[in-house]
Amino acid sequence: MKKTSKNIVIIGGVAAGPAAAAKAKRINPDLNITLFEQGEFISYGTCSMPYYVGDVIPDYQSIITFTPEEFQKKKGCAVRTLHRVDEILPHRKKIIVTDIKKNKSSELPYDQLLIATGARARMPNPAWINARNVFSIKHLRDSIALKEHIALHRPQKALILGGGFIGLEMAEALSKSCPDITILHRSPLPMTTMEVESQKIILDELKRHRIRFIGNAPVSDIQIKDGLATEVVTTNGIFEADLIILAMGFEPNTTIAKNARIRCGASGGIVVDSHMRTNVDNIYAAGACTEIRNIISNKPIYLPLGHIANKMGWIAGENIAGESSEFPGVVRTAAVKIFDLEAASVGLRSAEAELSGFRVVTESVMAYSRSKSYPGAKPIFIKFIMDKLTKRLIGADLIAEEGAASRANILSVAIQNQMNVSDISRLDLLYSPPFSPVWDPILVAANRSLKKLS
Ligand SMILES: Cc1cc2nc3c(=O)[nH]c(=O)nc-3n(C[C@H](O)[C@H](O)[C@H](O)COP(=O)(O)OP(=O)(O)OC[C@H]3O[C@@H](n4cnc5c(N)ncnc54)[C@H](O)[C@@H]3O)c2cc1C
Repeated sequence: MKKTSKNIVIIGGVAAGPAAAAKAKRINPDLNITLFEQGEFISYGTCSMPYYVGDVIPDYQSIITFTPEEFQKKKGCAVRTLHRVDEILPHRKKIIVTDIKKNKSSELPYDQLLIATGARARMPNPAWINARNVFSIKHLRDSIALKEHIALHRPQKALILGGGFIGLEMAEALSKSCPDITILHRSPLPMTTMEVESQKIILDELKRHRIRFIGNAPVSDIQIKDGLATEVVTTNGIFEADLIILAMGFEPNTTIAKNARIRCGASGGIVVDSHMRTNVDNIYAAGACTEIRNIISNKPIYLPLGHIANKMGWIAGENIAGESSEFPGVVRTAAVKIFDLEAASVGLRSAEAELSGFRVVTESVMAYSRSKSYPGAKPIFIKFIMDKLTKRLIGADLIAEEGAASRANILSVAIQNQMNVSDISRLDLLYSPPFSPVWDPILVAANRSLKKLS
């Protein structure tokens, strides 16, 4: 492959951007790569932020993989933090970028460009975040500010707006310092991405840890007096608080892409092909600003997850460096820790599968994480979601105090490889009393499902 010294511009410095920059430079050291990030930090573990707020991880420095200086030195890419890219001019192959500290804008050329602008926290009213006791938890700076606020003001009554995985992680994070926590959620049960049985188990776990959950409570307003939020108004009542966390989900950050006429899909994310190319020549996109293909339904979905952003970044980097790499799409594999529970889900939910045209059959089992006689064995709930026609597994939920997340990964591999339930029932899974019973819970679920399917 011919190596050339092209100018590569990367916009966004958390997961997809740095992954692409490092990969492209490793493959082609002649590339001049510049990474622009409007914030002050790059390359950090967003997913660890709830544990930093909850003091499980005491020091925020430990969730930073590379400082800008380290990244420049170790990866050989120029890093410009506190630089915001305001515009992409594809017809001139230039960007307009503002140095935020100097408040100075300039035009810079690119040969190839990667948009890795990620996601932003969904906020029905952007003014809410201006209240001194309202926080979102999107950027590292948000987490640092929240932790400082907690240490200084010792809030006694917290409202978390949103009962998805970040809302639940934040409930646990606040529970050590704040005695009164309520989650307000628009749907009846928490974790709308899971099956109803799983949602009920999660609700019980919240109750067990004295977290109040109010469902069917979409937020319509936050009352703010003298710069402090006092109440949250929902269709299911008005709630007082001295701390409010916005955890209402994410939306793709695509303003500069749309202004450059880069195509976005129905989910709002930038449309990319399997090489991470957009519809505009020499412009790639990766990570939480894009939509991705669900390989089970073959439909585009919006799924802003860290492992996906990193992989898409790598693929984009390889292609920018001249290789021909493809991203296969995703099964959707996710897990969240809710106090003592691991709650994991893979593939499609049953309602989603039906909408995608599958004839859905489900089966649920309760098994044990280890041999039942071995100390510490925990009950594990598994629900299989299957296609009646092909007998393929197309989704699953797993919840337990141990052994749910790792088993979800096994099922993700099974789904990715289009295994049917009979194949899964014959998987050569280990038996060792401290780790698994002789019939691993996955085999128990598969065998029970086979009976149902026949
Ligand atoms: C609290 C929390 C917990 C999470 N937990 C998990 C988890 O457990 N597992 C999991 O898989 N995922 C998790 N995620 C999701 C995961 O962190 C994201 O999917 C991932 O960070 C996406 O990476 P990204 O690089 O695509 O985008 P982002 O992380 O959103 O980064 C994009 C960056 O681009 C910058 N930017 C945007 N526009 C511009 C511009 N015009 N100019 C310059 N810079 C710009 C932004 O400032 C931002 O820093 C979590 C997210 C949060 C917030």
